[in-house]
Amino acid sequence: MKRILILAAVALAGIARAQPGQTNIARWQDDKTGAVSITWDDGSINQFKVALPILNKLHLPATFFIITGQIPGSTYHGKFIGRPIPDIIKETATIPTDQNNLFERASAAGYLGLIGPLDYHYKAGSLVDAGKTDEAIKVIDELYARVRRGDFKPGVQHNDEYKDAHGTTWDDIKRYAAQGHEFASHMITHPRLAILDEPNMLYELKKSREEIRQRLGRKYTFSGEGPFGTENERVMKYAYRVYPALRNRMPEPWLKEISRGNNENPGNSGKAYVQLQRGATTKTPMPVMKSRVDTTLKRKDTWLVLTIHGVDSIGWEALTHQALQEYFNYIKKQEDKLWVATFGDVTKYMRERQAAKVSGQISKDKIIVTLTHTYANRQKIHTLMPT
Ligand SMILES: [Zn+2]
Repeated sequence: MKRILILAAVALAGIARAQPGQTNIARWQDDKTGAVSITWDDGSINQFKVALPILNKLHLPATFFIITGQIPGSTYHGKFIGRPIPDIIKETATIPTDQNNLFERASAAGYLGLIGPLDYHYKAGSLVDAGKTDEAIKVIDELYARVRRGDFKPGVQHNDEYKDAHGTTWDDIKRYAAQGHEFASHMITHPRLAILDEPNMLYELKKSREEIRQRLGRKYTFSGEGPFGTENERVMKYAYRVYPALRNRMPEPWLKEISRGNNENPGNSGKAYVQLQRGATTKTPMPVMKSRVDTTLKRKDTWLVLTIHGVDSIGWEALTHQALQEYFNYIKKQEDKLWVATFGDVTKYMRERQAAKVSGQISKDKIIVTLTHTYANRQKIHTLMPT
């Protein structure tokens, strides 16, 4: 949180009249027109092998939401926290799934030592995310009926993200972080958080943060992203206890949020900032991708948050390196007007600015600008000498 707010528009003309001019805190760092954060989910290997070198050549920082449990050498791996699993399976024979046991059963689904049940965790979780809890209950009931019938083969099942991240190491990630990129939690196993019970949800949230803190340091425990862009209220309540910033939701009174799944245009929000979150996927034509940058440039309040997954056929909805190169060149060309910064840095800047007060006064031959903000409990006094 050690960012200094940039002051702009100190009207020195005021000095001649022995009155301070108007002092504002720039909406974006260096008084730019808009902000862009390039964010990546899942840590699929080509994000680092292919996309990161392109970003580094252009000196563009990015944020990577990584799945910590699948990086070799990690301390915390996916596991079920709760009663013995055989007891849970046995109980499903006599007690149907309902609102009370749904989350426990769905949390255990990936840890039954069988190949197949993990798919039910994801399917039921997507239904809860969509507000269809009754349908999720049916899915979990069907799962355990099949488990009791012995329909599944024994084994360990990994999700696709696990396989796509193959080749990532903590040593590499440390090096990339030192190059100016933000690393942040995308949980331990990439679960559907909305269908986990409290102990299992907190395990995913807290232990992925702990893993990152141990490997990279506290600086990287600021941001997080719950998998599948969940906006589930219950998940957000828990997640905000663990992370100061989440890309899923950012409920600030001064921010209008437009999420990935929402086609709305920024419009006139009447708020200080707009977060325009947009996915760049194989289905997104390049002119559309570029038009989002143009929209950001035409306004003064917009923070374009790009979410990207796969690269060159590895990972979900992969973009080619040619497309990424073209798009990042386009962003780079506008850098005199666009502040390209990590998700965490833009969040901190906006929050500090919104929590700040600035005032100016004349003292003999000086203008004293006092900047106070409550966000990090600090006060800064800038003294500007007339020239
Ligand atoms: Zn993801």
